[in-house]
Amino acid sequence: MQKIEWKRTKRFKPSEWPGDATEHMNPDLFNELFLLRDLVPSWCSMRPSPVYGAHVRPDGSSRHSTNGNSRLSDATDLFASWKAVWLIWQQACRMDFGGIGLYLDTQLGGKQMPMIHLDMRKNRVMWVRHNGQYYYYENDPVIFFKIIAEYGKNQ
Ligand SMILES: [Zn+2]
Repeated sequence: MQKIEWKRTKRFKPSEWPGDATEHMNPDLFNELFLLRDLVPSWCSMRPSPVYGAHVRPDGSSRHSTNGNSRLSDATDLFASWKAVWLIWQQACRMDFGGIGLYLDTQLGGKQMPMIHLDMRKNRVMWVRHNGQYYYYENDPVIFFKIIAEYGKNQ
């Protein structure tokens, strides 16, 4: 079985993901994530969510699901500062990620902080979440950018 090549990055280590999450995750996702990390400025830190289900879920239809251990999760949710998240998001859009979700309504350690979801599905799907509501680019790009413009921050 293919393994995650941690030696490819100096920017992440397995212990940043909760519990044994990375053992249930697809190495292709990490290849792309390590590349992404190298392609954005070094100050653009990404912090894997401390919530196990933000990476691996036993069931459900999301890319996080292992479907009762029959597949590897190929999705991860990462926190970044407002300033960094735009550069990360823009770079991710140029890469082989499929699903790219931007969460404007998330918190880390009681502090409001945006989160980005990245996954390896075949087709590009982009969404933004605000106040628990999802807005998909493919449904309405104007609303998608309107939500970003109204509720996103730049620092
Ligand atoms: Zn996610």
